[in-house]
Amino acid sequence: MSSILIIGTGGVGAVVAKKCYKDNTFNQICLANRSLNKALAIKKSIGDNNIQCEQVDADNAQEVITLIKKHKPQLVINTALPYQDLSIMDACLECKVDYLDTANYEPKDVAKFEYHWQWAYQQRFKDAGIMALLGSGFDPGVTNVFIAYARKHYFDTIYKIDIMDCNGGDHGQVFATNFNPEINIREITQKGRYWKNGHWIETPPLSEHHSFDFPEVGKREMYLMYHEEMESLTKHFPEIKEMRFYMTFSQEYLTHLRVLQNLGLTSIKPINYKGLNIIPLEFLKALLPEPSSLGATTVGKTCIGCIIEGIKDNKPKKIYIYNICDHQKCFTELGSQAISYTTGVPAMIGAKLILQKIWHQSGVLNMEQLDPDPFMEELNKNGLPWIVKEL
Ligand code: NDP
Repeated sequence: MSSILIIGTGGVGAVVAKKCYKDNTFNQICLANRSLNKALAIKKSIGDNNIQCEQVDADNAQEVITLIKKHKPQLVINTALPYQDLSIMDACLECKVDYLDTANYEPKDVAKFEYHWQWAYQQRFKDAGIMALLGSGFDPGVTNVFIAYARKHYFDTIYKIDIMDCNGGDHGQVFATNFNPEINIREITQKGRYWKNGHWIETPPLSEHHSFDFPEVGKREMYLMYHEEMESLTKHFPEIKEMRFYMTFSQEYLTHLRVLQNLGLTSIKPINYKGLNIIPLEFLKALLPEPSSLGATTVGKTCIGCIIEGIKDNKPKKIYIYNICDHQKCFTELGSQAISYTTGVPAMIGAKLILQKIWHQSGVLNMEQLDPDPFMEELNKNGLPWIVKEL
């Protein structure tokens, strides 16, 4: 009997809930969210009265503790926002329950996402005999597993990695983000950063870009950004000499972003408006479409993967490992667009491997630290098949 508590029932949480419901590893599911109506809507669309729904403010660890004590899950899946990672981890520690998330902790008042806050829980999770699996989405998540898989089966050593995230989909909106707008805009307006010979090199935001012909999508312009999996991968594979992360954006998207930035609407510094303290980016989020609402109109495909270079049997080798995901197929299966789908499915797989004790280990772990084979097998079975091309 495996029971889970899913906290955060937005775009990604809905996919996790529906995929877990379909898989017989999970017998009992409780959905908790800041606004209860979102959890109830998912329960309604699944159509099973055994699913429990709760209201929770996960910024408050005590509320999460009360919820865990009431429902007694074996695992808490955090698909709320990165701001809640630490309070949910605190609650899991208090109740000795395993933890999984899809994005690393970020303080609300500084747009800075780093692992050190969560890695600091290592000893306490080990001592409690529980596991925290960090970043079980697509990127981070599947990209980390792709690299661990390549290292295990294709290389003796890896020296260069390009992670490339292409969303070739069109949602028909003038401007919308495909996951939480606040987190997304905080991420892409930061300086770019890449790894070279043991150092991080910074670039102005979205200043470096190249064209790449993505399989089944076509030519797209991709922009160098900083992304969190580079921090854990360079730590766990110190042999890596160069690593970069790219994401594609359309000119239309970048023009809107520039205007919003110029107007100050992407700022996280509070302003006083008629006696109220307002954070412009939070206000902007309230105006933009919810990522979970984009499924019905989105067409096209995503292509996310890694080009990896290294040595095998004393010879240089280069491979491209990637997944293609079709927005409309995701909508037909679960009523979601492909970004929520490609994040939610790996979260379900990570949860499944923890509960089946295939991946269970005490401590705080990143995806690349675990055996990639069972995860890769589950990707093929659960709607995210992957391809390896030798280049
Ligand atoms: P959404 O905004 O659609 O959903 C977030 C949900 O969390 C909402 O339902 C929101 O409820 C709830 N929530 C926010 N704050 C709290 C709180 N204090 N207590 C309880 N619930 C809360 O975002 P997404 O589903 O698009 O993204 C979810 C997570 O997935 C994010 O952390 C994002 O960074 C991550 N992600 C990871 C990816 C990967 O590949 N690794 C890719 C895409 C996303 P309400 O609306 O009521 O506030």
